[in-house]
Amino acid sequence: MGNVTEAFRRKHWRVDWFVPELDHRKYAKAFREDDDYSEDVKLFWGDPHTHTNLSPCAHVDPYNQSPAESCRHARSAAGLDFLAICDHAEHLSGEQWAQCMQTAREHNDPGRFVAWPAVEWSPQGGLYGHRNIYYNDYEVPLVSGRDRISPPRLWEFLRAAPFDALTIPHHAAREATADLSRTDDDLEPAFEIFSGWGNEEYYGAPMQDTDRCMTRNFAVDCLMRGFRMGFVAGGDGHPAPPGDSGITGIYTDGLTLDGLFRGLKRRRTIATTGAKILLDFHVNGFPMGSVIPFNQHQVSSLFPLEIGVAVQGTFPIAKVEIVENGVTVFTKTKPRARLDQMAFLWRRQSGPTDGSRLIHGPNNVSRFIYVRVTQHDGHMGWTSPIWLDFYYEE
Ligand SMILES: [Zn+2]
Ligand SMILES: [Zn+2]
Repeated sequence: MGNVTEAFRRKHWRVDWFVPELDHRKYAKAFREDDDYSEDVKLFWGDPHTHTNLSPCAHVDPYNQSPAESCRHARSAAGLDFLAICDHAEHLSGEQWAQCMQTAREHNDPGRFVAWPAVEWSPQGGLYGHRNIYYNDYEVPLVSGRDRISPPRLWEFLRAAPFDALTIPHHAAREATADLSRTDDDLEPAFEIFSGWGNEEYYGAPMQDTDRCMTRNFAVDCLMRGFRMGFVAGGDGHPAPPGDSGITGIYTDGLTLDGLFRGLKRRRTIATTGAKILLDFHVNGFPMGSVIPFNQHQVSSLFPLEIGVAVQGTFPIAKVEIVENGVTVFTKTKPRARLDQMAFLWRRQSGPTDGSRLIHGPNNVSRFIYVRVTQHDGHMGWTSPIWLDFYYEE
């Protein structure tokens, strides 16, 4: 837990980037009280969802890249730190899979570039929807929807496997048969909120082909079901090269497969529509992805929440919003020093549903909070949520 000053106030982490606006404002105190941070993290950017010419859907000129070409493109042309190639398992032969893992291993260059072993899993006929599987190992079998025919069967298999793996669902709002009524809190740490298919934060969001979407299975719907999912964004190029659409930033201690895997598992991720918008977010010093459990006796130590946000945009910022349980509860539109930077601390008093007298059940008080950023060029970014998780102390 690092240097916890008290149960619900901890020292924030120190990131490897810094917004000068933090320096000359009162709220800087909240971020940099005395340079005594709980831990050091760095931010690494990548595309966790690309397809190569091994997937029929991406076998289109001029993006008809081989796995090796995709890795080189991601690293050199797109300037990414990592790439996960997620070709469709059901279309791969055993020999192609072995070749994919060999290529990933060859392009993995710890400290400079991580080629993340991954695959896309989709059961027959699109039933249950698509999920990508991310491994922490290159010695892994091909896992396809032919053998693991439903999400629970997939998780059961991965749980028993001698290697570590995580799953992430995508474009569930577009698939009539996608099933996001279930997740696995240990194995499914994130939701793909944006890709080449558009924005899946909520129905009617910007950059969304709303006519092609159901009114369910958006990120906010899943979070309202109580799922603990952070956010990632990927390309899912159909067809497009890596880094051409959504990208993901992962906070972790170093650029290695294991480091990225741990960062994803802990939901320390930000998602953007392709611009490298630097985002930091904490509640009472707890970083994005955290779960803060509390009971009815602790409401007064937890509140007011100190919600800290820092943004370094790639373009002037139009607005920074704080979203709580799917509702925008705070909007800031005016940067103070520079148009592409914003940093502030917002004190959130306990809302009308809080206080021990009004607690009737977990859903009444529990909440998730995340940050959404919109730039004037249209690019958007999201932090993963932080959860305040109420439990009743008998
Ligand atoms: Zn897919
Ligand atoms: Zn895909």
